[in-house]
Amino acid sequence: MILANSLDRLGTETAFDVLARAQKLKDAGQDIINLGIGQPDFPTPDNIVEAAAKALRDGQHGYTPANGILPLREAVAEDMAQRRRVTIDPERIVVVPGGKVTMYFAITMFGQPGVEIMYPDPGFPIYRSVIEFSGAKAVPIPLYENSGFSFSADEVLAKITDRTRLIIVNSPANPTGGVVPKEELDKLVAGLAEHPDVAIMSDEIYARMVYDGVPHASLTAYPEIEDRLILLDGWSKTYAMTGWRLGWAVWPEALAPIATRLAINVHSCVNAATQYAGIEALTGPQSAVDQMVTAFDRRRGVIVERLNQLPGFRCQRPGGAFYAFPNIEATGQKAIALQERLLTEAGVAVIAGTSFGAQGEGYLRFSYANSIENIERAIDRIADFLA
Ligand code: PLP
Repeated sequence: MILANSLDRLGTETAFDVLARAQKLKDAGQDIINLGIGQPDFPTPDNIVEAAAKALRDGQHGYTPANGILPLREAVAEDMAQRRRVTIDPERIVVVPGGKVTMYFAITMFGQPGVEIMYPDPGFPIYRSVIEFSGAKAVPIPLYENSGFSFSADEVLAKITDRTRLIIVNSPANPTGGVVPKEELDKLVAGLAEHPDVAIMSDEIYARMVYDGVPHASLTAYPEIEDRLILLDGWSKTYAMTGWRLGWAVWPEALAPIATRLAINVHSCVNAATQYAGIEALTGPQSAVDQMVTAFDRRRGVIVERLNQLPGFRCQRPGGAFYAFPNIEATGQKAIALQERLLTEAGVAVIAGTSFGAQGEGYLRFSYANSIENIERAIDRIADFLA
């Protein structure tokens, strides 16, 4: 068989590899504490599960419109109105099987040989993977530890060329937990006025997980870029629904039909019962979300304090998501080597910063979507290992 050359450029998400290896070690009888996985450790709230079960019992077994059932898109529009204070026509909303699908659609819509797409580094590894798969040149936007893992808008604007087609922004961020300050977004949007052909994809999948009373700053707040902004959001993280595969995007009016056409070509629609679960998630009680975020915040306090006590570790206080991204340079070990040794010798699964880009060297990603007890045990083990 002779496969397409583009496959040589397709990357992956190492977190899934580490997860598989951690599971293998567990199956072989080793006690592994998993701080590698990027998903809430809570079950999906009962009311949401029940809504899906009811939909199945009610006979929702067939295809739905490719962009999602109207009541779900209306519920998303209402959520956008309440939380982001923007009015969105449900026709601009496309419901997809997970946030990743929006990412793939947006990148492949713009990506081709000869063009450039900018992505955060360290950042979610699929951005770069799909950019390169599309044939476009992946241009990293460095994130800086000393500015809470934000980018510099001036630096982003300076990197735009006449080949730039799309800029990817992710706040709150994976893997750093960083939050881009509103002032930096203001500056970015102001500068983009000079570059009317450049589109923006804002990955706001962690929008509900922000701490310290700092409200989430969304790029949807800028009407001047409405006709070229793709908003990526979804249910996976907010409602502990990673395995359901459900996400939404708000597309510019001109792009929504193209996203829908891609959906028809790829997956037809999201399974019907899951869409009913999505309506219940958005319109039902939000207390479970509040409880999860409160729990993450408490764990954030514990993990940051404990990581900062480890020799050779230095950890910023992340403003959002459920990741801590300590600098481990002073341990004298490379990120991948430390990841390996912590997994095999200390029984703690974490992810090397280099899994998220070249700028991730010198860092490890810890997910604190785990109990305080497990976080404490994991850090005790790492402390013993380093000693
Ligand atoms: N965007 C970011 C920044 C993520 O961290 C993730 C998942 O880890 C996704 C998107 C994808 O989410 P989903 O599971 O809904 O595809």
